[in-house]
Amino acid sequence: MALVTIDNTSRRDFVAGAALATAAAAAAAPALAQEAKQPGAPTTRKAADYPKPPFAVQQQPWPGLASQMNPRPDHGETSYRGSGRLQGKRALITGGDSGIGRAAAIAYAREGADVAINYLPAEEPDAREVVELIRAAGRKAVAIPGDLRDEAFCTRLIEEAARELGGLDILVNNAARQQTKPAIADISSEDFDATMRTNVYAPFWLTKAAVARMGPGAVIVNTSSEQASDPSEDLVDYAMTRAAVLNFTKSMAKQLASKGIRVNAVAPGPFWTPLQVSGGAAPEKLQKFGSQSPLGRPGQPAEIAGLYVAAADPALSFSTGQVFGATGGGGQPA
Ligand code: NAD
Ligand code: MG
Repeated sequence: MALVTIDNTSRRDFVAGAALATAAAAAAAPALAQEAKQPGAPTTRKAADYPKPPFAVQQQPWPGLASQMNPRPDHGETSYRGSGRLQGKRALITGGDSGIGRAAAIAYAREGADVAINYLPAEEPDAREVVELIRAAGRKAVAIPGDLRDEAFCTRLIEEAARELGGLDILVNNAARQQTKPAIADISSEDFDATMRTNVYAPFWLTKAAVARMGPGAVIVNTSSEQASDPSEDLVDYAMTRAAVLNFTKSMAKQLASKGIRVNAVAPGPFWTPLQVSGGAAPEKLQKFGSQSPLGRPGQPAEIAGLYVAAADPALSFSTGQVFGATGGGGQPA
């Protein structure tokens, strides 16, 4: 697969990263700075080395592939180190093939969880890499492709994940649709419906089916956004859904507290993922993506994985209805 580099720095980092990757991670090694490390040695990440704008002009057909991005996102393939925080847990992550969901899948597996991922059939190449990474962590991986806009599929997804994993302790509602539209007149009813079905109905359907199977100690982790409280003018329908998810998190946390089921949310700021290069951001916005944040760059999915772990960690048993944020210094998570 051809990889186009922006400059010598990214090419050098890609070569170094690829040389260091483990066999399982080799196919998924990101084109980002990674340090040489012996097994067991701690990772010292140099966040300052993460890519900054300007980015190369690029667009992919929706839903996009992480493997085709330039530079490739860092999902923690060669860096995330677990410490048993989710030992023996059984998790389903929607949109687990790429971006933030892939980073969560890698982290969960390395923290000791068995992980099922859902994704669209067109994302099979990305999903295969994640399955290999989960297996390389010594955990069970289950791949269940399908379209979350369909209620019957959402119900089947929960049933199949629970059957394959032997139960369900963690549901991560992470999949989403984001398409930039400059004016409200550009948002067709079909667009609006697709965004609502993917981003609001699916978490509702999945949560309904999951709660029926979950016991005390289970956790639901939703993905919101800084867009929930600080919406962009060109993301009207999407931003509405991120606010809805935040609200849903808080009501369900109250409703499920007596059952011992916690519900938390993670609210990212700008992150370098396929969602942004497949219609999520206008090309001119993409070139300077992340420049508005005080850190002056987008986050890499690896930089938010720890919040998904925290949101589900049984040690944080008093944290429910919470919003964990990673915005690079800008805005508020909620
Ligand atoms: P991503 O493209 O890597 O992940 C989104 C995933 O959604 C896709 O991989 C796809 O599998 C899934 N998906 C979309 N439509 C689907 C459908 N109909 N059926 C099944 N799966 C479907 O992008 P990401 O940025 O990692 O997105 C993950 C989450 O992060 C989303 O909830 C998004 O709203 C949130 N988020 C992202 C950013 C950002 O800047 N990237 C910022 C704030 C919040
Ligand atoms: Mg994807």
